[in-house]
Amino acid sequence: MVRTRFAPSPTGFLHIGGARTALFSWAYARHHGGQFILRIEDTDVVRSTPEAVQAILDGMAWLGLDYDEGPYYQMQRMDRYKEVIQQMLAAGTAYPCYMSAEELDALREAQRARGEKPRYDGRWRPEAGKTLPQPPAGVAPVIRFKSPREGAVAWDDLVKGHIEFANAELDDLIIARTDGTPTYNFCVVVDDWDMGITHVIRGDDHVNNTPRQINILKALGATVPQYAHLSMILGDDGTKLSKRHGAVSVMQYDEDGFLPEAVNNYLARLGWSHGDDEIFSREQFTEWFDLDHITPSAAQFNTEKLLWLNHHYMKQMPPEALAARIAARLQARGIDTGKGPDLAQAVALYVDRCNTLNLLADALEVFYIDIHPSPELLAQHLSDEARPAIADFAVGLEQVAWETPAIAALIKATVARHGLKMPKLAMPLRVLLTGQTQTPSVDAVVTLIGRETALARLAPYRE
Ligand code: GLU
Repeated sequence: MVRTRFAPSPTGFLHIGGARTALFSWAYARHHGGQFILRIEDTDVVRSTPEAVQAILDGMAWLGLDYDEGPYYQMQRMDRYKEVIQQMLAAGTAYPCYMSAEELDALREAQRARGEKPRYDGRWRPEAGKTLPQPPAGVAPVIRFKSPREGAVAWDDLVKGHIEFANAELDDLIIARTDGTPTYNFCVVVDDWDMGITHVIRGDDHVNNTPRQINILKALGATVPQYAHLSMILGDDGTKLSKRHGAVSVMQYDEDGFLPEAVNNYLARLGWSHGDDEIFSREQFTEWFDLDHITPSAAQFNTEKLLWLNHHYMKQMPPEALAARIAARLQARGIDTGKGPDLAQAVALYVDRCNTLNLLADALEVFYIDIHPSPELLAQHLSDEARPAIADFAVGLEQVAWETPAIAALIKATVARHGLKMPKLAMPLRVLLTGQTQTPSVDAVVTLIGRETALARLAPYRE
């Protein structure tokens, strides 16, 4: 049974990199009919916040990444970590170290002065035949893991291939602080063990933690999971993805008018591929997803491609479903879409021109509010030669059959009668009817607006 987990630290929003890790962990479990677990790594009490926990839960819900277990919170598992530390002390795989912070500083200083890498010298590490110093009175020790000194620790990373560290390179890691609280790597190990995680899929900023975690797992007699370390995501400009690149929080994409389908599809292709397929459904993704086709090189974020995917998903949505999303956005702006043209028809007419929900809402809101074309646009487009044609057109509108071909014929006849080129009438009509200069074909816009509103919007210009 495959069991994966997503283990974010709640110190900020759910960013794009975290979301991709969550998506891949989720997809791997779903592909194998396994289980996906959410674990909140909140032991950094200074930086962890309830708002950040909520942002993670919201982001995952928005992306539709459902979990089978959790969320577990590490802060609620302290007793368990302490229990395992006691077991390790009893088994001799961990030991108390009474070295003070000052002593440790002095040691590091001396090592640096000799040109050596600073590392713990093992002075409290118990060894056969070694006599340990007398524990100082009234000093609380840290607990260190008795890390193997010989040989190497290695794993076949499912993304990066074989990775090996010499044990001589690894310090005796502190697993509990003087106040007894367990440290980061130790909590991860106990959790992965207790939760029966079979595949650890995470960012490659954790590669250096993995040898320590594997050594502790082995000391506990635990089965070592398989590891897949995902390469980082770079911004459009090739530098590490950061706030500078705009929306890096998943929920910001929601706010900016992206569909979760598009963001999911986009994230799926950030480092993973299935042939040349760029567009695929969630079902196809979970059917195809594996760890063999994850690239070990960094993935580069491409906003244009995300927009292209978003537009694709908007266009393929049934207009009624898209209209429901636009209605929600317009309602949030205090606009009632109940009065005015049928929103699904409006959406169908405009969707080709707008690649985000926000742009679509921007374009469509003019049909549901009073509009006041700007004086600049009026001055620019409402020419003296256009005015009589507009008045004439309005007369025709009173009677014309309300369908696009008839309205198109009326526009044609009007420009012909007034000896105008089409844009001389079409542009001022756009401005008067929508306040905008960029619209779909003006006959379709007139049809959409409806006779009553069209006549009302032209009325002030009918002399
Ligand atoms: N809590 C860690 C992070 O947010 C992830 C730990 C892990 O996946 O092992 O970076």
